[in-house]
Amino acid sequence: MTRRAMAIDVDRCLGCQACLVACKAENEVPDDRYRLRMREVVAGRFPDLAGEFRPEQCFHCDDPPCVGVCPTGATHRTDDGLVLIDPAKCTGCKACVTACPYGMRYVHPGGWVDKCSFCDHRLLVGREPACVETCPTGARVFGDLDDAFGPLRRAIDNADAVGVLKPHAGTRPSLFYLNTRIALDIEEEAVTVVSEIGSRR
Ligand code: SF4
Ligand code: SF4
Repeated sequence: MTRRAMAIDVDRCLGCQACLVACKAENEVPDDRYRLRMREVVAGRFPDLAGEFRPEQCFHCDDPPCVGVCPTGATHRTDDGLVLIDPAKCTGCKACVTACPYGMRYVHPGGWVDKCSFCDHRLLVGREPACVETCPTGARVFGDLDDAFGPLRRAIDNADAVGVLKPHAGTRPSLFYLNTRIALDIEEEAVTVVSEIGSRR
């Protein structure tokens, strides 16, 4: 089986937002909306502080709560692990927007719900997602989680720390953070968001 997934090495992330801009251009995301979010976060107590840039987007969860609540089947999961939306079937009811524990969906001015698709249109022609191709430091790695010898597994296996956001949500995300200095399972209140670019809804 193939399970499409991504890893982001936060140790390499500069917070430059090149990924966010590339995503908007590639997917024609409307002016005041975003598929990606860039947060600068700090945790700890002075002088023991840790900080990092944390890019966030749909995690293409293995157990996605957004799929089950969709009354029309517009939101669906593919056999290779992508969680996608068919705009033609979407009524804009926002059930999925509420169900996503990460706030990764927004309502498109056209009336449908939109979010990161891992650039499925590019995958179809053998290209990587725009954010991966654009990242100047190689912080993003995309591949097949089930390929034991592929670049994604190599990046994960070689990392000092591997985690997913809000593991307690039980969604089993397909986007992994590598070498994080801030625990990903601590409550949101314990993390100070220094800056955030990218809409929540
Ligand atoms: Fe669904 Fe949210 Fe998971 Fe994406 S991150 S698959 S929108 S629950
Ligand atoms: Fe499905 Fe669209 Fe409603 Fe989301 S807003 S649950 S994708 S019909």
